[in-house]
Formats: sequence, C-alpha cells, structure tokens
Amino acid sequence: MILKEHELLQIDEQFICRLGEQDPDALVGLSIKLVSDLKEAVERLNQNPSNSSRPSGSLAPWDKGVTGDEDDDESTINEKEVLRSETGIDKEEPLDTAGTTEEDSLPSKESTEQRKPGRQRGSQGFGRTQQLAVTEATHHACGCCSACNEDITSVEKAYTGFHTVNIEFGNTDAPGVQLTNTLHLYYLGLCPKCGLENRSEPWRAPADTADWKNVGMTQWRLIGPDLAALIVYLSMDMRVTRRKIKQFLWDVFGLNLSIGTLQNCIVESARALEPVEAQLLEKLCSESLMHADETSHNEAGKRLWLWVFITASTALFLIGHRTKEIFTNLFDALTDFNGHLMTDGYSLYRAYLKRLRCWAHLIRKAKGLSDSYTLTSQTYGRQVQAILNALIDAVYQAREGPDRGTVSIVAHHQETLKNLRKVCEAMTASSHKKTRELGVEFLNDWEAIFRVLDYPAWPLTNNEAERALRHWVILRKITQGTYSEQGSRALALFASVFATCRLRNSSPLLYIRDVIHMRRQGLDLPKLPQMPGLVVA
Ligand SMILES: [Zn+2]
Repeated sequence: MILKEHELLQIDEQFICRLGEQDPDALVGLSIKLVSDLKEAVERLNQNPSNSSRPSGSLAPWDKGVTGDEDDDESTINEKEVLRSETGIDKEEPLDTAGTTEEDSLPSKESTEQRKPGRQRGSQGFGRTQQLAVTEATHHACGCCSACNEDITSVEKAYTGFHTVNIEFGNTDAPGVQLTNTLHLYYLGLCPKCGLENRSEPWRAPADTADWKNVGMTQWRLIGPDLAALIVYLSMDMRVTRRKIKQFLWDVFGLNLSIGTLQNCIVESARALEPVEAQLLEKLCSESLMHADETSHNEAGKRLWLWVFITASTALFLIGHRTKEIFTNLFDALTDFNGHLMTDGYSLYRAYLKRLRCWAHLIRKAKGLSDSYTLTSQTYGRQVQAILNALIDAVYQAREGPDRGTVSIVAHHQETLKNLRKVCEAMTASSHKKTRELGVEFLNDWEAIFRVLDYPAWPLTNNEAERALRHWVILRKITQGTYSEQGSRALALFASVFATCRLRNSSPLLYIRDVIHMRRQGLDLPKLPQMPGLVVA
C-alpha cells in the first residue's frame, strides 16, 4: 500500500477538488496511487487458500498466549521518551515464567479478584527494568508528500519511535560481537502545498493475510534480525532451552529478555521463513535422487510423524497427522520430480514407482533370522546375508571400475538373483512369522531393492535421511515435542532451513538473519544459499 491509513483518512472529495485546482498533475499522480492501492486491496479481499501462495493444508492458530501484537511489544516507547537517551528494555520478569509469555504472566483485568499462582499484580518483580544506552538513531522520514509529491523534509517532526536491540557480528577490523541499541524514529509532516498530514510508519504485515494471525510481522521489533537469528540458532541448532538462552544473553551480553519475548521472536522467525518452502520444493523437483524417511513426533500428546525428503543439496521436513495424506500431498506438489526415491520398506512408499530400497534394513532383518532358533530361518537368514554381501562387493567394485558405476552389473548376477527369488518364494509359506515377512518383503519390493544393480553409483542405504532426522530426534527428547499444530509447523520450517544450509556449506545463522531483515520490511525473502562451486544463471 502506498498511502497509509492516516493519510487516506484525510483524503476526501474536498481535498481532491482543491488539489485539482492547485496542481492538476499532482492530482493525476494521486489518482494513480489510489488505483494501485485499490487493486491491492481488492486482491487481498479475494484471497483464499486456493489462490494464495500458502500450502493447502490449513494451519491452526499459534499457541494461545504467543502474541505478536506490536503495540504490546516491549520496545514501544511513548512520545515523551522519544528524545530521551535511555529507555526501559524489558518488562519485569516474574519468577514463574517457564514456557509462558508476557501475556500469560500478567493477571488479566477480569480475574484480579481471584488470586492466581505466581507473581501478583503490583508485587515486587524479580528482574529490574533494564536501561541500555542508545548506540545509534535511525530516522524514518516521510520525504515527500504522498498526495502531491511536495518535499516536506523541512517540516517533519518525530511523533513515535521504538528501540531495537541487536548484535553486530565482528569482522577482521573489529572482532567480537557488539550489542547495539538503535532508536528508530518515525516522522510526521504537514504538506505546505496540499495540506495533507504525512506520516512515516514501520512496515507491518496485513493482519488477515495468513494463518499466523497471532504472530505479527513488522519492523516494530525489540529484537533485531541478527539477535533473532542467534536466538533461533541457539534454540534449534544448539538445542538450548528458552531458559538457558535467557541466561546466555544475560551472561554474555548483559541483556535481560523475558522467556515470552524469546518465544515470540522464535515464532515470528518461523513465519518469516515460510515462503522458503516454495524454493525447496522447486529444487527437490530438479534432483535425480531423493531420500525419504520418517520418525515419530509428539504434538501435545498426539502421535504424529516427522518426515524428511532430502537430496544432495536440499532438505524438506514436514510434520503430518495422516501419513498417507502428507505423502500424497507432497508428491502432488512434486509433480515435476522424475528422479529416484530411496526409502525403507514402509509400504506407503510403494506408490512411487522409481524407487530404491535401503539394504541396511534388509541385512539387519536377515541377521536377525540367522540368529533364530528355527533351522530353516537360520539358513535363509545366512543365505540372504551372503547374497547381499556379495552383491555389495560387486557394487563397490563397479563404482571403482573404469565406468564409475554407470554400467549395470545385473547381468553378471542373474543366477544369484534367480536363486534368491526362489528361496524367498518358498519362505512366503514359512510358519515362522519373521521369515515369512522377509520373504514377502523381498518379493513386494524386488525391483526397488535390486534397481541399484542397474545404477551401481547410487547408494545402498538410506543413511542420508536417517542422519538428517537424528538431530531432531534428540531435540524431541529434550523438548518432549511441540505443543500446537503451528509449533510443529515452525519446527519443520526451521529443520528444512538448517539442514539445507548445512548441505550447502553455508551459515543458517546469516541466512535466517537476512530473511528476518527482509520480511520485516515486507520484502521477498532472499534466495537460499547456492551449492558452493555452482554458477547461478
Ligand atoms: Zn502534498
């Protein structure tokens, strides 16, 4: 939107007539701005999940109490404080704030009579309002009039402002990390020509554009992009609890932030990252080999699944309720994907025809049978192990050969494969459950299991996907999972970005910093870092 609400409110029939008499060209200019804003407003009115860029699965509201209401942001200062050099940085921190937000920790207006546990309104807080010196001021001037383009810089005055605390990563000239406290000032100017009162305002995402309703996206933030990225990094990559992050910021930077503020910062960062999924999907489609795997995930006591789809350069994580739906949806989104998919034996994956099977699971099962107390099962287990091991040797040899694994080795092992198939068929009638199951599994997945013999350069195991999940399995054990649908969504977004940046040997910290910086101003998010050595057209 070009015209701010404040300015639009002043534009009426009278204003337009007056401007037309004064300066017809300025009126044409204003009309163009009005039409542009009107079109944008109509488009927004017509927006719904089927025509917006959001994924089709609708998102539940964020955790209750996780508020992004900008006007309640601790960075807000009133007009009087604008010119003061110091200001309060953080609200008083109640004693009992683990996992709560500022909203939660303050008693509501209606319930003051009923005593709640924890700190009471008006009682002595644990922390103190922190005073930090302002290190610099940024002036957000109006510049020229929104209606008639007259230069109004000479008549502007500051009407509001807020503080942003941030860190600056050092360089070779000035090593170390610096804490900064920037005073952002916004200006008001009465146009001497047309009389419109102009106002510069921090950018805010329209409240109705997404399901991230309670998570505001705006420039009006206490925590700057670098510091926000550091908080996300500590939380997701280093698996540090909110309480420990709070302690860290105090110990290292002398900065006192509440746990609620940290939580808000993390969910806002997730919202900022959401459009990255489109980039990830596009990249996944262009790859020739993708690994998929899943692990259980706990969301507020519900058993869900965390999926990973990973290639040499890109990882996409999703948390899903119904496994079949998420897989079908993903493959609808990946219609252009024409590569091979490496998976374990989960039957759902059979829907995808160009598939590779992880041999590690098969070898483990065969080993289990060879340790059993049933003679036929023992023999079968040993036989399968011996055959798979011989074929693994052949695959390794082919990879080291002159053709570097591009030539099929299946012809050399026809007899072995024929024998194995015969044994597996016989085992489908076994009375030993695990023996019967392995026989059936081989027959069901035969093509997928032995496709690697046609392309020996391809992997034999699904290690890539399993390794990608491991970090998040450990985090799950620390945090006991997530507490809402959108908490899960945030986790999946962070997992995708961290894993993808790591695959591309670049810093997730700096990328997330840039994303937050751009998205808070309403700009498109930057492209994901490219693989090193790749020239981008
Ligand atoms: Zn004007």
